[in-house]
Amino acid sequence: MSKEVSPKVDPANVLEIEELVLEGMDISGHWNRMFEQRIITDYDVRQLDRVTELDGGESMGWCYQCAACIAVCPVDHVGSYGPRKLFQNLQLGFDLFTDPDLWLCTTCANCLRVCPKEVDMMQIAPAIRKEAVLVGNVPAELQDVFEKTARYGNPLGKNAKRRAAWTKGLDVEVPLISELGRRVDVLWWVSDYPSYHPRGIDASRSLARVLAHLGVDFAILGAEERHDGDSMLRAGETGLFEMLAEQNIETLNQYEFDLLLTTDPHAYNAFLHEYPERGGDYNVAHYTQYLAERIDDMGLSEQVDLNITFHDPCYLGRHNGEYEAPRDLIKALPGAELTEMWRTRENGYCCGGGGGGMWLDGHAAENQNMRLSEKRVLEAVETGADTLCVVCPYEVSRFEDAVKSTNNDGALQVLDIAELLAQALGLAAD
Ligand code: SF4
Ligand code: SF4
Repeated sequence: MSKEVSPKVDPANVLEIEELVLEGMDISGHWNRMFEQRIITDYDVRQLDRVTELDGGESMGWCYQCAACIAVCPVDHVGSYGPRKLFQNLQLGFDLFTDPDLWLCTTCANCLRVCPKEVDMMQIAPAIRKEAVLVGNVPAELQDVFEKTARYGNPLGKNAKRRAAWTKGLDVEVPLISELGRRVDVLWWVSDYPSYHPRGIDASRSLARVLAHLGVDFAILGAEERHDGDSMLRAGETGLFEMLAEQNIETLNQYEFDLLLTTDPHAYNAFLHEYPERGGDYNVAHYTQYLAERIDDMGLSEQVDLNITFHDPCYLGRHNGEYEAPRDLIKALPGAELTEMWRTRENGYCCGGGGGGMWLDGHAAENQNMRLSEKRVLEAVETGADTLCVVCPYEVSRFEDAVKSTNNDGALQVLDIAELLAQALGLAAD
């Protein structure tokens, strides 16, 4: 076999070599690209540039296609998604500003947890959505919620004056802080679904009973409370978020309280990370954290003979690192057994409600082969548990709908931890 080898390749001159054959293999040409800055000419990078030039969109350009994110992205499990695929699509010239994919990310943060390059969808998705919102390119169901929230102060479009109606006829007192006219230990930020949704109200009434049982000095804001805005921010409605935050901070700053107690992990997230820089700096706790510290004072005595599996809310767990408090409460229920799903804690599967997903069910159904809440309910059923315990107000209704749509009625009940605690305390249910 003939050999054509350049025996004296001087590395200093390597860039000048145009032809080189080694053992019959032509390695001339552009092999020297390793020594030069790589200039991409094969792709139309204009769409990628549009994203990376946004404030918050920069990290989209850092993706190096390792695919770690794909394995953990909940949307990819019911379709084709994840930062890696979005990056590829942008390289192929897809306009993500108008593509339905823009609205599928729930900002669950599981990709960021595993991404070696810190590609941050929690920044990227809202940054692109903000541009889409500015030109009115928003799915109709989400636009409707933006408008209701702006008008009524809650995404359900309910009358603000009826916000405390859930307390009527309750066997314990739930005072309004404006009527008390004094400082309280705990100001309870009830949130929208616990104030208006029938199943959210069940959980609120249970939590009120538990707080009263513990002798907590608490009050609520009632009609003065508005949506916390966190999900609006993730959905790209920055202006609406700023308006809500300003109004809520103005309201809260009128009153004196030691602790702001939130039912909703999204509100908890907003009060921890968004409100302080806007003048709303409070001592905040999620209700599971507050109650977990008082387990010994509760006197849980009634048997709760249930096999319970637990769903970690993304905005309590991955976003804010709280995994133990809800589990401590479940484990304290007399007679109850906790059976974990295989995707749990840091790798917990998203219910689909974050990042505006709460109001994009139609869009998700059109663009995925299954809703995330349905996938999660199937995982809960797989454990053999009879009860799915939740600690986020988005979840009771989402999972109850999913129990029905997956034909698991009767196999799995969905209960808030407050309902389970009230049961273990023998407190009256409605
Ligand atoms: S994990 Fe990060 S770097 Fe890897 S493919 Fe996903 S976004 Fe890109
Ligand atoms: S934040 Fe969650 S839903 Fe969005 S791309 Fe990452 S893993 Fe997927």
